[in-house]
Amino acid sequence: MTQEDAPACERHDAAVPMQLRTLHSDSSQPDKVVGLYECPECGYERRLPIRTEDAA
Ligand SMILES: [Zn+2]
Repeated sequence: MTQEDAPACERHDAAVPMQLRTLHSDSSQPDKVVGLYECPECGYERRLPIRTEDAA
C-alpha cells in the first residue's frame, strides 16, 4: 500500500497524509473512480477522483 499520492489534510500546518478509506464508482461515469480519504488526525473527509487509466 502506498500513500505517495495521498492528499495532505488542509487543516494542519504540517503535511498530514490522509488515508484512503473507500472507493466509489459512479454509475454514470464507469471509467471514473472516486476515493474517499480521511485524515487520521482530525477525521476530515475529502473525495478525490482517481485516474484508473494510470494504473493500467
Ligand atoms: Zn486533519
